[in-house]
This record gives sequence, structure tokens and C-alpha cells, in this order.
Amino acid sequence: MNQFFLNNKTVVIASHNAGKILEFESLLNNYNIHIITASDINAPDVEEVGKTFKENSILKAKSIPDKHICISDDSGLCVDALDGFPGIYSARFAKKNGGWYESMDKLYKLILQKKVKNFNASFYCVITLKWYDKWIKTFSGRINGHITWPPRGSNGFGYDPFFIPAGFNQTFGEMIHKEKIKLDHRYVAFKKLSKLYLIDN
Ligand code: IMP
Repeated sequence: MNQFFLNNKTVVIASHNAGKILEFESLLNNYNIHIITASDINAPDVEEVGKTFKENSILKAKSIPDKHICISDDSGLCVDALDGFPGIYSARFAKKNGGWYESMDKLYKLILQKKVKNFNASFYCVITLKWYDKWIKTFSGRINGHITWPPRGSNGFGYDPFFIPAGFNQTFGEMIHKEKIKLDHRYVAFKKLSKLYLIDN
């Protein structure tokens, strides 16, 4: 019997990203969990010095004091024609280019320069669950799709208006929140976690 269920616990979402936090709040909504965030406990933003999503996700989880259970996420957009770029640099690339629209514009131009007409891309995510000072587990999720230009839709966050998941016509930015969060990379990773550490109410 698994003694590590998250139901009825207080869990820190180790993020300062409002879009991600909203997705986790929705995903955890039915489990009677008291959710607090990194800023509620004055945990600083983590320098993402890892070389992989997994390393950065673990770094974020470890930035939360051991007296808490926490969930962290490192995620990003991986463009096939750019060998997976921006990947772990997704947030930093947007910052460097002065905003979301500017970074999508830049990425689109980089793809065109490749002259391969390959707009395939995926979102990837590694969620880490840290159980106080006891243990750490990671869960990964990917959703495939393609890049579209110009960006469409004002829902969601980050690169959402730039990405159409496979089998759909709408971008993540056009989908309603309820639909996106039952589909995306974070959900795929979250389902692996919930199977082991959450009981349906
Ligand atoms: P980080 O995990 O804090 O490095 O930031 C991940 C970055 O990847 C975000 O700031 C977004 O740019 C992008 N990203 C991750 N997940 C999503 C998503 O679900 N939609 C749109 N952009 C995302």
C-alpha cells in the first residue's frame, strides 16, 4: 500500500510562472490538496544551470525547503528543424528577444532559414515530486504538433498561440483552458504522477 498520497496534504508548486501555476491548480483541483506556491514561502527563482529538463526540474524542487512536499516542472518548446531548440532555453529565449511575440517571430524565421519546410515541434515537460527530505521522483510528458504562423489566440501562456497539437486545428492559445490542460505535455506527465500518488475522490 502506497503511504505517500498527496490527498489532504499541503503541496508547494515550485514555480513563479503564473501560467504553469494555474495549470497545476486545475490539475490538482479535485484532490483536496492545499496548494501554495514558491512566492508564498519566499523561495527564490532558481538559476537553471542544468543541461536537461530533468536536471532543471530537480533543481527547482530542491530549492524548496525540506519541510514541504513540492511539485516542480521544467518544460519547453522543442522545434524539430532546430534540433530541439529552444527546449530548456524556452523561457530565456523569450526574455532575450524581448517578449513572446518577438521570440515566436524569431523562431519562425530560424525555421524558414533551414529551408526544410518542417514545422514539426513538441512541448516537453518533466515534473518532479519531492517528498519532504525523503525522496524525489520525476515524470515526463510530451505532446507532438506543429508550429503555425502568425500566432493565434490569447488563451494560455508562453508559446501557446504558436503551437497546434497533432490532430487539432486550434492552437493551444485558441483552446479553452479546460481543453488544453487535459491534453498537454504537463498533463501527460501529471497522469503518471497521479496514478501513483493521488486517489480519486
Ligand atoms: P521554465 O520551465 O521555467 O524553464 O519555463 C518553461 C518555458 O517554456 C515557459 O516560460 C514557456 O516559454 C514554455 N512553455 C512551457 N510549457 C508551456 C506551455 O504549456 N505553453 C506555452 N509555453 C510553454
